[in-house]
Amino acid sequence: TLKSRTAVVTGSTSGIGLAIARALAKEGANVVINGFGDAAAIEKERAGIEREFGVKAHYSPADMSKGAEIAGMIAEAERDFGSVDILVNNAGIQFVSPIEEFPVEKWDAIIAINLSAAFHATRAAVPGMKRRKWGRIINTASAHALVASPFKSAYVAAKHGIAGLTKTVALEVATDGITVNAIAPGYVWTPLVEKQIPDTAKARGISEEEVKKNVLLAAQPTKEFVTVDEVAALAVFLTSDAARSITGTVLSIDGGWTAA
Ligand code: NAD
Repeated sequence: TLKSRTAVVTGSTSGIGLAIARALAKEGANVVINGFGDAAAIEKERAGIEREFGVKAHYSPADMSKGAEIAGMIAEAERDFGSVDILVNNAGIQFVSPIEEFPVEKWDAIIAINLSAAFHATRAAVPGMKRRKWGRIINTASAHALVASPFKSAYVAAKHGIAGLTKTVALEVATDGITVNAIAPGYVWTPLVEKQIPDTAKARGISEEEVKKNVLLAAQPTKEFVTVDEVAALAVFLTSDAARSITGTVLSIDGGWTAA
């Protein structure tokens, strides 16, 4: 049980982050959710977590591209709840383009949100975890932390960077009761992915089922999407006492993608 623990989950107004925040709340943790979106929808999710799981849930609008706002989010969570015991660095964006045309501002935004944000949040959260001799840091990496795909230079660079940050911090805090790990999903069924399918089917003149199996899941041997709940279950396991010796790892949950 995570009763009396507090978790901060970045990028948790949607998709994987929301599933992780809800799963941690289900285990009894108070949670800080974060991310962009419609204010009423976010408030509905926040209040829903409190009602459903009997925990406290706060919302931080901190922009993960801004170091000072990230440090502020961690400080506020410590003030409100007394501690940040679990930090999930999950916020992320994607942009696809050949390198020679890759917009400089997109490169900067992806490195900031997908990589530097984890540095800022970890840097701010580690002192409290060290004082309390307990902590769990979980970074949402990707299969793209281990292998590349063309036209995703910024994303692949940031995710490989996350793997390096994960290993480095794990070594630094190994004797402080703090574990640091990355989860590396393959294609995950999120609203973002789901919305592309009807248009892709129309554009290519094939069925939605064929789009899933032959276009999106071409690299994923199972030909099945990973679900957000599967990723969340792995995150919950990493917060458990049974996982105390798992640190500095990049754990694949990718239907066999990176085995090929
Ligand atoms: P999503 O778009 O559903 O969620 C992204 C979240 O990040 C949202 O809550 C969004 O508001 C938030 N966000 C974006 N920019 C932000 C900013 N500047 N400040 C604060 N929050 C911001 O996407 P998802 O698929 O759930 O992705 C979550 C993480 O999982 C990302 O790091 C992504 O790279 C990774 N991932 C996703 C997949 C996949 O197939 N969906 C696969 C591997 C890894």
